[in-house]
Parts: sequence; C-alpha cells; structure tokens
Amino acid sequence: MAASGTSSAGDAKLNNTSEPSCDAKGENEHFPGFKDVDAFVKHGLGAVVAATKASSALPQPGDEFDFYRSFPGFRHFCASQGDKLLHCMSQIMQYHGCMSHMRVCNKLTGLEDQFDRVADSNDVILEKVDILLDEASGVNRSQEPVMPAGYQPPKIVVSSWNRKGDGSAYKSETFRLLHARNIQRPQLQFKDKVDNSNTPFISKIFVKPNAQMPLPSYFTNKHTRNERPEDLDVPAALADFIHQQRTQEHKDDMFSHPYQYELDHLTLPEILTVRCEPQMFKPLSDTSCLFVNTLEDLVALNEKLARTTEFAVDLEHHSYRSFLGITCLMQISTRDEDFIVDTLVLRSEMYILNETFTDPNIVKVFHGADADIEWLQKDFGLYVVNMFDTHQASRMLNLGRNSLDHLLKVFCDITSDKRYQLADWRIRPLPDEMFQYAQADTHYLLYIYDRLRADLLDMGHGNPGLIQSVWLKSRDICLKKYVKPIFTEQSYLEMYKKQKKPFHTQQLSAFRLLFAWRDKLARREDESTGYVLPNHMMLKISEELPKEPQGIIACCNPTPPLVRQQINELNLLVKEARQVPLLKSEVLDEQKKSVTPKRKPDSSLFGPHDASHVSETDLSFQETPTKSGVLFPDEVEELVPLVATAKVKLFEDWKEDSSTLTVAQKKAHSIMESFENPFRMYLPSKDIHISKTAKYDPSSKIYEISNRWKLLSAEQQQQEAKERKKDKEQTKKAAEERKKAERTYKEALQDVITVRQEAAEAGQHRKKRERVVSEVGEQAPQPDLKVQKTSGGPADVHMASSSSKKPMKLAEKSKNPDLAQPTTFTPFDYSQSSLKVFSGAKVKDAAQFDPNRQVHVLRKKNPKGQKQSSQTRSMSYTAAKSER
Ligand code: AMP
Ligand code: MN
Ligand code: ZN
Repeated sequence: MAASGTSSAGDAKLNNTSEPSCDAKGENEHFPGFKDVDAFVKHGLGAVVAATKASSALPQPGDEFDFYRSFPGFRHFCASQGDKLLHCMSQIMQYHGCMSHMRVCNKLTGLEDQFDRVADSNDVILEKVDILLDEASGVNRSQEPVMPAGYQPPKIVVSSWNRKGDGSAYKSETFRLLHARNIQRPQLQFKDKVDNSNTPFISKIFVKPNAQMPLPSYFTNKHTRNERPEDLDVPAALADFIHQQRTQEHKDDMFSHPYQYELDHLTLPEILTVRCEPQMFKPLSDTSCLFVNTLEDLVALNEKLARTTEFAVDLEHHSYRSFLGITCLMQISTRDEDFIVDTLVLRSEMYILNETFTDPNIVKVFHGADADIEWLQKDFGLYVVNMFDTHQASRMLNLGRNSLDHLLKVFCDITSDKRYQLADWRIRPLPDEMFQYAQADTHYLLYIYDRLRADLLDMGHGNPGLIQSVWLKSRDICLKKYVKPIFTEQSYLEMYKKQKKPFHTQQLSAFRLLFAWRDKLARREDESTGYVLPNHMMLKISEELPKEPQGIIACCNPTPPLVRQQINELNLLVKEARQVPLLKSEVLDEQKKSVTPKRKPDSSLFGPHDASHVSETDLSFQETPTKSGVLFPDEVEELVPLVATAKVKLFEDWKEDSSTLTVAQKKAHSIMESFENPFRMYLPSKDIHISKTAKYDPSSKIYEISNRWKLLSAEQQQQEAKERKKDKEQTKKAAEERKKAERTYKEALQDVITVRQEAAEAGQHRKKRERVVSEVGEQAPQPDLKVQKTSGGPADVHMASSSSKKPMKLAEKSKNPDLAQPTTFTPFDYSQSSLKVFSGAKVKDAAQFDPNRQVHVLRKKNPKGQKQSSQTRSMSYTAAKSER
C-alpha cells in the first residue's frame, strides 16, 4: 500500500512538464486530477507520511525480521514490493538523468552503492528544485558566473547566498544561505597571524586609553608577549603546562580584563537617566554612510566619535571559513552619519578606537552585545566602557520579542530584512544590498535607545532604577572575556553527552579520534570545525564505522573538501577505532542488531563478506607479512632474531656492494628485485622510498600519513608507551636467550667478546665505548658495508658498537661467518610461497629463507607491532629516509 502510495505521487510528478509553474491558470493542466498545486502537495505529503508509517511498521531487523522471513509468503511479498519500489525509484532517477540501475548491483557492495546512488540523485533533484524555484522567483541562477577573485557582481551575490521567496513574505521565511565561492581568504592579508594554537586567549591590548589603572607590564612588554607558543603542534598536555607556568608568573595580569577596574568603578552617567525627547532618526537615504577602509578615515572617525556623547555600534562576523571567526565589518552610527568600517583591512589598526570605546563619558549603544564584546576583544583588542544594550532594555520592558527587527517594527515602523544576517560578510567590494543592510543595523539604534529609555522611565514612574538595571546588565556584558576554544582529551565527551545515541566502545573511540583530527585540522587550516567535518557527519561516521573510504564518503553528504582530501587518514582512524575490543555485552548487542553479525573485533580482516571490501588503506594498517618482512625491513629491529636479521641485512645491502656478491647472492638479488610487494603502495612509511619533497608536500599521501602520527593524542601515547614497555620486556627476554646462543660464537671469537658484551648492554657503557672508538680511529663516519662484509675484524666491530643500534647489528652479522659469506645460499622460491600468508594464516617453518616464516616469528613476538606509537613510527621513518 505504501509503495503504491508513493509511486502514484511519483507518477504524478513524472507526468508533469519540467516546469513547475505556479501560474494560476495552468495548474490544472500540470496536475491532472488535482485542483491546484496545494491539493497535489497535500496528497503527496499524505502518501509520503503513509509510506513512512508503513515502513516503520515493518518487522525490525534482527530476530523479528528473521522470524517473519521464515515464511515464504512474507519473503515473496518483500521481494515484490522491493522490486516495485526500486523500479519506481529507478524511473524517477532516470527521469532526472541520474544513474538508475537500482536493481543491477553487485551483491556485496550493492546496498552501499544503491544508497550512494539515491543520495546522489537526491542531490541532483534538490539542486534542480532550487534552480527552478530561483527561476520562478525571478532570480536566474544559471546565469551565475564564476566570480573573478575578489569580485562578485552584486546581483549574483544576492542570488547565490540567499533564496528569495515570493518577495512579499520574505521576513518570516527560512532561507538557505550558500557561501559565495571564490572569496579570497582575508586571513592571508592579515598583518598579524591568527593564533589558533591550543593555548588560552590573551588580550591583544598594548595601550590602554582612559586608564585609571595602568596596563600591566606583561601587555606593554613586547618581549614577554612574544614568548607565546604560536605552534599548533603544542599538545594539549604541554599547552596546559605552559599555561600553568605563565599563570604562575603573570597570573593576575594575563587573564584579567584590562578594563576591569574602570568598569567596576564606573558610575551611572546622568545623561542616561534624564528624560529627553527622543531624537528622530534621519531617513536612511538622506544619511551619508562612509565606507572606512583607510587608517586616515579611521582616525577621522575616531575623532568624530570623540566629540559625541553617544553612538551606536554593530558588527558583522564570519565564522565558517575560519577557526576562531573573523569580524568583517563594524557599523557605527552617530545622530547624523553612518559609517561602515572594513575591519578586514583595518584589523590591526582598529585598536585606536579604544580611545572612544572606553571613554566613560560616551555611551556606546549596542543591540545584543554579548557576541560583539567578545569579537572586539578577539580580533582587535577593543574594549567597551559605558555601554547600553537595547536588547537588555527590551527584555526589561517585557516587549515579548527582543530582536532588533521587532524593535525596528515597534519603534520605527521599519520592516527590516534580516536575510543578510548570515551572508558571507567577507565579500568585497560589499554589494549594495549588503551595504544597506549593514547601515540599517545601526542607523536607527540611537532613536530606539531614546525610546527605550523613555519607556523604562515611564515604567518606573520616573524612577531611573530600571535604566540603571539595564545599564548594569550592559556593564556585565562589557566585563565578559573572550575565551578561546581549548581542546582537551575530554572535549569529545562533552559533545558526545549532548547527542542522545549511546555509542559502544569502538564508536566512541572513532568519535574521539575524529574529534581530535577535526580540531587539529581546523586549527591548522584555519577553518571552522563545521567546515572540516560537521557534527552530524562526525557522529554518523562514528556510528557506522565504515570499513572503506567510500563508506565514510557516504556518511558525508555533501562531502566536505577536507574529508575528501584526507579520506585515507580518516579511514585509518576509523580502522583504528574498529580494532578496539568491544565489551562482551556490546558484542552481543551488535550481533543482535544485524542479521548477519558484524565482524567481531578480533576476527580476521578477510572475513567471507569482506573480500571485495578490503580497501587499500585497510591493508596498510594491517600488519601484513610483507610489511615487517625481508623486503620491507627493520621497523622492529630489536625483535628480529639474530640469524634472520643477518640474512635480511645481506639482502638489503646488496645495492651498495654488488661487486662482492656471491653468485647465489646475485641470484637472490634479482629474485628480490623482481618481487614486487603487492601492498607496497599502501605501506605507510619508511618502507617506501620517499623523496624529501613528498614528505612535506601536503598533497602527497606520505604527508597525510606522517601528519596522522602527530595527531595521536597524549592519552594514546601514554597507553602505547605502556605497550611498548611490555614489548621491550619481552624483547629483553628474547635477547637474553639469544645471548646464550651467541656465547658459542663468542668463545670462538675471543677478541670480540668484550665489545659484543658492551653492545648488548648498550646505553650503560656508551661513553666507554665511544672512547674505544676514538682510540681505534674511525674508518668512516658511518658504517661502511664493504668493511662490514669483508673484514669482520675488530675495527668495524668497534665502530659498530659505537652507540647506534643498527651498526651494532651489522657487527653481529659480520661475526657470523655463515652469514657474512654464505657458502650455500638457496634463493627462496616465491612460486611455492603460501599465499595464505596474506590472509594472516600461519605458515609452517621452512628450511629455506622464508619471509613468511620470519614474519610469523615477528608476529608472535610483537603482537602489537602495528600499534607502535606515533613517535616511534615517525622516528623510524626519518631514520630510514636518511639512510638512503
Ligand atoms: P547582527 O547583530 O544581527 O547583525 O549579527 C551579527 C553577526 O552575528 C552576523 O554577521 C552573524 O555572523 C552572526 N549571527 C547573527 N544571527 C545569527 C544566527 N541566527 N546564527 C548564526 N549567526 C548569527
Ligand atoms: Mn549585532
Ligand atoms: Zn548587524
């Protein structure tokens, strides 16, 4: 029934011509069987509601659904209805020129593909609706040009940010604002870099006009101020520490309100309380409005303001394409003139207005100043002393609605158009419509201020108590301090608690990781967190824990650019979260939820349903045999058994001395060269030869990956440090066993014994060893492989024992005659290699050199190999790189 309901609505739609005309005449033609558009819409809505109801009445996935499915009748019904629905959807999609093969799908990836297609089609259809609505309201969006940088013709600006309704009733309509494209980032022109670091905000003030208390030396001394860590990489814990250090020293100064004393000692200005005739506003069109974008004009404005007893102020702010937000405009109105200050250009000079803004003899009138007060501090170091907030007055008067539109309507009979409130105020030159809107925001405010005061006096029967009350409230707003968003290890929990859905361990881990990733990226790129990854998408990804990058993309519609750019990064984070073990109860819950139980946390990567789903990045994170194997060696140097290591090193080092290779070695060499690790391209770090540029090139994969390591939280690092410690202890045990075995060799090579022992106790005797080295004299600053292989004498042993681990190992090799010069070497026959190794299966010991076997050993010893800390990884990455 539901299906037929929707399909009839769909069919009706299909029968339409492409133009949803709203003409009174043609309605019946366009909607056969319906009186008018409304009737059609009502019918359509009814059908949709019925369909939604019916679909939520279907048996729920899990036991109930399984039970019903055991009846053939139910199965057939589902199949036929499903087909019908898909057919209907296909038709709609076809009609709109979208990919429509809803029914021909790969069984494995089918559902997700289909979902993607539906989402894409929805986008296309809604976009069409938008365009048609624009056309119908006289705004033709198809004419929208791509703006040349920095310029956008005003007409187009209006259409691209705001959707006009039918023109008459725009005031109450909700409208969707698009952000203008191609706007040059104003941040690039700022003289002072934006400080997005994860450290508390410190006032920008450095001179304090109208001071009754001098500005603390901290603010006037440039030297101390410059000690601030601007580095975004300051981890939360370190930032806290720095914060504490500073607070100890300058505690009272740095975070105090520079005008606290003045505000505390401010007395109610008489001018506020005396009854006077409200001074009528000048018509907007008769009032000059200067666009202030030079220092001279700003100084002149300040001087003008200094001669007034009151002026009105408002700000326009942009917060989407910036981490902390940017104040884009300041509107100021005196009784005679309006001004619009381009605060993007004059950002670093705005502080001069403190002279008038903190003058206790001049009343500054704001409407709803809470945010403005913070923005003034954040962007300009501006403070306000003696402010009157018309919003507070309106509340005091119980006007019911306290918005500026309402006051304008009540007191000025002006119907304001608040549509521009959310416009992109970064745009320059300012389009006429926006200019006028901005002007109107302060133009009437002084008159409203007069009227409100008069009403407050009336309400208090001539007693100024209510005015004083408003004034005190306004003063409290002036005392507000801007607080920068600070990221802590707990930040994510605050948002998690606000959303209603409970997350299991993995979901919560994903949420934590995504939250940290987003914060870090937003600070670095100076974008809002909402631009990087909107909350609802972040929650969706955490909830779904997609196994593939495409799954993440599917959670984000439309996909934010930075998500697309860092999709592999995100995929790694989700993967990491999915490796967190679920609680027993959670596992049961999960199994209940899905008909085909979800992958258990510890199940193998290649489950029966996963085969086609395994993504590239999945593999990179999995501890694939090849990763720590011979071809792509030495991440876990310490764990590699002595014998195997020696072999490894032989392979690894051929390049440098191919002339001295034995025939067997050469053969092995060529085999190795011909063996292309299938996962090579996915391996994250040092296994790949990486050019220096790639490492620092933001577009390179390696760049993304190396950044990822930096992202790991302090908490994780601690945890991982613990794990590392455990691993180390295990390694120590292994090393002891190894030592026993080595002793046999040592006896045969007496002159080397002391050095080898020293090497084994690396760290303790480092100094001593270094002395030995310098006594012997260095052959080369770095271990030379020729020497290593050919001599095996004491000289290179000494050298090898000098501090670094790697040379030490080379020395070990060279001590083993078998290894240094293998008499019989059998190249590994890859054709016989067990492919099971790629699915993580164990491989039986082989007599030959066998990377699989080696990996097997490695796995055993370092089950958490893939969880090494960021530091370890990036360090070994660097080291490996420098070797080449
Ligand atoms: P207004 O004081 O109404 O001119 O608003 C000043 C600034 O506040 C605007 O430029 C916007 O950045 C921001 N703003 C105002 N209203 C909203 C809103 N409803 N949602 C988000 N931001 C707003
Ligand atoms: Mn405002
Ligand atoms: Zn405004």
